[in-house]
Amino acid sequence: MPSLLTLDEVRTLFHEFGHALDALMNENSYHSTFIPWDFVELPSQILEHWATEPEVLKLYAKHYETGEVIPDELIGKIGISRFFNQGFDNTELLAASLLDMAYHTLEAPVNIEVQEFEKNYLKEIGLIPEIEPRYRTTYFLHIIGGYDAGYYCYTWAAVLDNDAFEAFREHGIFDKATADSYRKNILAKNGIMDASAQYLNFRGRDPELEPLLRNRGLN
Ligand SMILES: [Zn+2]
Repeated sequence: MPSLLTLDEVRTLFHEFGHALDALMNENSYHSTFIPWDFVELPSQILEHWATEPEVLKLYAKHYETGEVIPDELIGKIGISRFFNQGFDNTELLAASLLDMAYHTLEAPVNIEVQEFEKNYLKEIGLIPEIEPRYRTTYFLHIIGGYDAGYYCYTWAAVLDNDAFEAFREHGIFDKATADSYRKNILAKNGIMDASAQYLNFRGRDPELEPLLRNRGLN
């Protein structure tokens, strides 16, 4: 029976399996501990990188009737398509993140008309009219009871997963030593250690922005 998953669904499969690996490899013996939001998404988002690596695609992306392995030409197109619309997508996310911060850095109670506040703020940061923030204030539920002043964590999680995957690029995406270090320092210690210290132990330095910009074609 063919599964015929779309590329998006395959990425979701890898993403959720990353959460599963995190749970399986964790050494935490308590039922529930706090893990920062951005770090919760590191194990899942990093696994998405493997989904579209040519070496990995050739292991699973086969024609459902003939068994033919995905052709290089198609792999090339998948590689290029990841840059599509990235300027718009990232600006939408960052505009929403900044809007979140604008509300949460008001220093005294104010009586404002939110649509007016939003309009003025977006003008102030120079958002062009062709781009809207990912969420408008009136339905931006993340910022009122959940991610308050933390909507940026999605983007910060992406900085982490792109920089962490870079370690595998440097040593090979199937390098055992890098994978062992990732398991030992990141997956095993989530919720037990300070997340920044975990990252430092794995990467030997703080996360850098460049891999994210490069992978999204924004550098
Ligand atoms: Zn997730």
